[in-house]
Amino acid sequence: MDIQLTPQLPCSACGTELLLSATVPHPRFRNATTTYELCPHCHADDAAAQGLLAFFALTPTVDAASSLSFARLVQEWLQQLPEPAVVSQEAFEQDVEAFHRGDFDS
Ligand SMILES: [Zn+2]
Repeated sequence: MDIQLTPQLPCSACGTELLLSATVPHPRFRNATTTYELCPHCHADDAAAQGLLAFFALTPTVDAASSLSFARLVQEWLQQLPEPAVVSQEAFEQDVEAFHRGDFDS
């Protein structure tokens, strides 16, 4: 797991500077990763993010004293996040048919 603190990356949705991003192994694809972003704007109402948002409100940096509670909050956050979307077999087959029809050629 690769957790980046205050990576100064913009949120992919709103452009606000992220609090952190976490790159974790993809739950279904071997050798693939998926990245979760924690944005103070987009996740303000996200129940799963409340612990971490409160942490950052009180503690802008992670130090030795706060690292344990930070690690626990990250773990809780990651466990509550939805898995990346699944492409259904039906949707996949429709795309394959469309590909063979040439729908993607233009
Ligand atoms: Zn955002």
